[in-house]
Amino acid sequence: MMIRFAILPLILALNFSMCKRHESAANSQPVSSSPTSATTTAGGSPGPGVAGAAPSPSKITKTVVDQTAQTIIFCYHRLVDKIRYPGTEITPAAFEAEMKQLKDAGITVISMQDLLAWKRGDKNIPPRCAVITFDDGWKSQYEVAWPMMKKFGYPFLMFIYTEGVRGGSLGGGEAITWEQLADMRDNGVDIQAHSATHQDLREGHNIMLAAPGGKRTRTKLTGPQYEQWVQNEVVGSKQLLEQRLGIKVNCFAVPFGSYNEHVKEIARNAGYEAMFTVYGQPITFTSPLDSLGRYAIEANKPKVFADAVKMIGTSSGGAAAVAEVGAANLSTQPADGETVHTALPLIKANLSRVGAIEPGSVQMRVSGLGVVPVSYDPKTGTASYQVTQKLRETSCTVILSAKSEGKKVEAHWTFGIDATAAAAAKAKASPSPTVKK
Ligand SMILES: [Zn+2]
Repeated sequence: MMIRFAILPLILALNFSMCKRHESAANSQPVSSSPTSATTTAGGSPGPGVAGAAPSPSKITKTVVDQTAQTIIFCYHRLVDKIRYPGTEITPAAFEAEMKQLKDAGITVISMQDLLAWKRGDKNIPPRCAVITFDDGWKSQYEVAWPMMKKFGYPFLMFIYTEGVRGGSLGGGEAITWEQLADMRDNGVDIQAHSATHQDLREGHNIMLAAPGGKRTRTKLTGPQYEQWVQNEVVGSKQLLEQRLGIKVNCFAVPFGSYNEHVKEIARNAGYEAMFTVYGQPITFTSPLDSLGRYAIEANKPKVFADAVKMIGTSSGGAAAVAEVGAANLSTQPADGETVHTALPLIKANLSRVGAIEPGSVQMRVSGLGVVPVSYDPKTGTASYQVTQKLRETSCTVILSAKSEGKKVEAHWTFGIDATAAAAAKAKASPSPTVKK
C-alpha cells in the first residue's frame, strides 16, 4: 500500500489533464512487440518500471490490446471415475485429455482476471484463449482437478454457492470445505460467487428454503420476501465469500443461467464486474459483461468441447494479430501525456523504427474525428496529419496503424488540449456567422 501511495502523486502530476489515465499508467508495462508477453505477469501491481518511467511523460504508454482475440470459457462440475450423472460429471481421464487438447490446439489457458483486464483494455491476451471454471464446489475439484491443472500450469476459477460448502445446509460429504478453498486461495486459485443456495433467481419460481435445523420447505416468494431472499443469494453470497476468505469477488455465475434484468441490476449494484451463463459462445472484446456464456462440459456430450475449440480455431483464423508499439518509440508529436495549447495541432509520428512499412497501409484515427487523411513519407518514415477541424475535448487519443512485413502494428497515445487555448482557437477559427450564397 505504501508504494502505491508514494507513486500515485507522481503519476497524477504527469497526467493531471487526463483524469482516467493513472490507472492504466500504473498498469502499463514496458511495451513489447509480442502480444503474448503481457499475459505472463498477473495483476496490475505497480512495479519498479513505473518509477523508472516517471521522469519522461512520453514513456507512459497505454497497453494496446488485441481486440480480435477470442476466449472460450469452460464450465466443469464433478470429476468421477464412474459416471452416474452424465449431465454434471466427467471422468478424470476425459478431463485430462481435454486439457491436453487445448495445449495441442495452441489455445492459451488464461485466468478470468486476465480476461476481464483485457476487456477493460488494461492487458493484452493471446489471440486464442480459454478460461477454465469449476462450478458448485465439489471436493473432487480440489483432490482430482487441481493437481492436473497444476501439472498443466493452468490457472482456473471456482464458482462456489456458499450453502453448498461442507457444513452448509446443502453441503454433503462430497462438498469442498472452507479449509480446502483457503488452500486454493493461497495458491492463486480464483474463487468467485455462484449464489447462496443454487436456485432459479427469478421472482415467481418455486424455491426451496432450508431451515437451520435442516428442514426444507418449497414455497413461492413474492414482493419484499422475494427481494430479501434474492439479495442474500446475489449479494449475501458475495459478502460471505469475501469475509470468510478475505478475497475480492467480482464474478457471478448465475445458477442454471436463469436470471433477468432485475437480477442483473442487483448484481451490478453489488459490485460484480461480470456475470456468467451456461450458454457457451466465444467471448470477444465487445461481448456484454453481464451475460458471458460458458460451455458446460458434460460426459454425455463430448461434442460440446470439440465444437467450442473449433469455434475459436476457425473464427479467429483469418484475423491478423496486432503488435503493439509504444508511442515513445515513434517520437510522437504531440507526445503521449503532453498538453498542447491549440485545438488544431499537427500530429506526427516516426514509423522508421517499426520496420519496413507498406506505404498504403498507414492509417490514423483521431478521437472525435475518426479516420483522418494521414500523409506518409516513406523516405523519412513520417506519418503526419494537420488537424483542420478543432478538437473539442480536453484530451485526444490517436491510433496509428500500419502493416509491416505482413503484420499489423498499432500505437495509441493521448495528449491533452488546454481548454482555454482551445476555446480561444475556436473563437478565432469560427468568426461571427456570415451569410453565404
Ligand atoms: Zn451450478
